[in-house]
Amino acid sequence: MQEKTFWQNVLLVLQKKIPKPSFDTFFRKIEILEKNPKEIILTCPSIFAKEFLEKKFKKEILETTKQIDPKIEKIKLIISSSKNHKNQFFKRSFNNGIFSFSKSGLSPKYSFSNFVISSFNLLAGNCAKGIVENPGKFYNPFFVYSPVGLGKTHLLQAIGNEIFRKKTKKVKYISCPELTNEIVSSLRQKNTEEVAKEYKNFEILIVDDVEYLEGKEKTQDVFFQIFESLVHYQKQIVLSSDRPPKALEIEKRLKSRFEGGMIADISFPSYEERLAILEKKLEEKEGTLPYEILEFIAKNIKKNIRELEGALNFALVFFLQEKSIEKTKKKVKDHFEKKEKKPSVEEVIKKIAQFYKLQKEDILSSSRKKEISQARQVVAFFLRKKLNLSLPAIGIKLGNKDHTSIGYAIKKVEEKIEKDVNFQKEIEEIKKDFLDF
Ligand code: ADP
Ligand code: MG
Repeated sequence: MQEKTFWQNVLLVLQKKIPKPSFDTFFRKIEILEKNPKEIILTCPSIFAKEFLEKKFKKEILETTKQIDPKIEKIKLIISSSKNHKNQFFKRSFNNGIFSFSKSGLSPKYSFSNFVISSFNLLAGNCAKGIVENPGKFYNPFFVYSPVGLGKTHLLQAIGNEIFRKKTKKVKYISCPELTNEIVSSLRQKNTEEVAKEYKNFEILIVDDVEYLEGKEKTQDVFFQIFESLVHYQKQIVLSSDRPPKALEIEKRLKSRFEGGMIADISFPSYEERLAILEKKLEEKEGTLPYEILEFIAKNIKKNIRELEGALNFALVFFLQEKSIEKTKKKVKDHFEKKEKKPSVEEVIKKIAQFYKLQKEDILSSSRKKEISQARQVVAFFLRKKLNLSLPAIGIKLGNKDHTSIGYAIKKVEEKIEKDVNFQKEIEEIKKDFLDF
């Protein structure tokens, strides 16, 4: 088995065991460097990630690896900058004395070469390429929007990587929740000026998922200043969101800035396009599958590209074990049909109330008792993440609460998941009830 496929298989099993926040933050960035008869060598992006993984998950990784190859006795984790080809990349940027790749927030795995551009994302794809050629010139800001899993992050990252590689400019990619956290803590520590200055220094600023600005007035204010300064100096800004700017509930002046450049949406790929994406992914993973299975996946998985890739990974592992086309098809279908079912708002409230041994009425009340308000925050979090409701819509469902307080509630939950392992487990428990999301 190829190294990459082997590690993909390990990851698939690990994904079921590891809390999603940790998995998303740390595991997705691990790459396999070498597989020896008794040992595998993995790379991770930072010392922090390495220490975190060693402390918390090394045993889990080893056990899971053994499940797939019982001969493995040892896992070695190294920091990815010591990988040879990347080393050159890092050094080059250091020698230029400008900016290091590791601080850019970019992940080298997203590029244009593994991104399919076709009619469903043609405008976005072409603008992105134009930006790489002439950053800051024509499409500024560049605003991409689509529902989840259709390639926004991939495209934004590809722009950043390509500009960094070709032009050695100071590129910064950051997700909006991260940026918000940074700004909020700078407000607390009273060093907002410094943080803003740092951002005004970038030549390309890429902010993913700007819908997270909703309900965060102070952050919007600081972001507006950064934005104005960058555009003034013809530095490129790239933004993504799940909605077009006009549907975002943010300050008027910021909204009109977002609307002032180029806006492109990404729609859903057709059957032929889904097939092309699957072929590309298969090539990237260096895996093999009968074409009939690819066609089957392309025909049945329409929700988004992330799920398409999920189905492909699923089929790769299953087919490897079973070697049966029919069984694999059935397995893929069953798995994704189960996932399709979305719970209703009422079900979410009921389940979470039950979990915390409360009544539905408690959640909808305006009680500020700690256990009630925390459960309410968790409900808001799930309605946002699982059902994709807007902040105002969640406010209405939760007994006419203000959308700002809903935004705050969701942020609280996100912060707590980061900090509190027990809480993280609680959330995982609740998630299991709703299958995964
Ligand atoms: P979003 O940010 O819109 O939620 P992502 O960029 O995370 O979506 O994409 C989800 C998955 O689908 C990623 O693994 C990404 O590599 C893949 N993907 C999305 N669009 C394409 C594309 N056009 N070609 C190849 N892979 C794609
Ligand atoms: Mg994304």
